[in-house]
Amino acid sequence: MRYIISSILSMLPLSALAEVPRVMTDIPPVYGLVAQVMGDLGTPVLLLEKGADEHDFQLRPSQMSDIASADVAVWIGPELTPWMERALKGATGNMVSLPLLAVKGTKLLEFGAMDDPAEHQGHNRDHDHNGTDQHAWLNPENAAPWLDAIAAVLSAKDNGNAATYAANAAAAKAEIAALDTEIFAALAPVKDKGFVAYHDAYQYFVLHYGLNYRGAVAMGDASTAGAAHLREVQGTIADGVVCVFPEVQHDADLLLQLTDGTAAKAGAALDPVGTMLNPSPASFGDVLRNLTAALKGCLSGA
Ligand SMILES: [Zn+2]
Repeated sequence: MRYIISSILSMLPLSALAEVPRVMTDIPPVYGLVAQVMGDLGTPVLLLEKGADEHDFQLRPSQMSDIASADVAVWIGPELTPWMERALKGATGNMVSLPLLAVKGTKLLEFGAMDDPAEHQGHNRDHDHNGTDQHAWLNPENAAPWLDAIAAVLSAKDNGNAATYAANAAAAKAEIAALDTEIFAALAPVKDKGFVAYHDAYQYFVLHYGLNYRGAVAMGDASTAGAAHLREVQGTIADGVVCVFPEVQHDADLLLQLTDGTAAKAGAALDPVGTMLNPSPASFGDVLRNLTAALKGCLSGA
């Protein structure tokens, strides 16, 4: 009997035997966390293409059919990647969707969490935001609950490897906690230097590390702001901002024009979503490392 079963199994295509789930991810930091949890067992698929804007991306038809046949989708949530939400509607009933912003224990911020209410009295409020700030991967503390949730979802699909997923998640948590300590130390000398960024993506990072973020020219969904907001940012930049930071997938001109006649310098272009990275298990940490290097590079020169 045993012999018969094993010869039947040996005739099945390899894919019928593989238990490691096929996992879709939306952005490089999420890809990195999933890749760390999967370890040597497998590799997730990253949907966001190199150089693309995370808020406004078009999936190719081949990516849509990839998603439809996947076992698991790990993504930030509809607040960041509505293109992913639309694609998931076409997935089979067996697919498990894990939107990370909904994971218990995630530290969430509302847009405008850093605003001083007094400062806005009588101002044009065209730049005020409502709703959850989607850029929660920029607080490394969110990695811990997310890694646990990823390990749980993968284990539910592939219980035979549950111990490996749990061990990999634990190792990733320890690694990211060590990186967090390193970044605190690296940024401590520049934490009071004011800076302005291209789009309003940095609340999680700057509140966690205690930095002097003074605002952004574009909204949290990367849409452009009105003239009144630009005038306000121009005033902010003239008022002691040390550096302004463009972003990799956006034209720097608008931001740089606002520094005319001020002492502010232009720093390296930031990549808050890691769109220029080659996706790897290190992508979550690399986004934070690269932000740290760019901020420190300009702010420490003052
Ligand atoms: Zn963004």
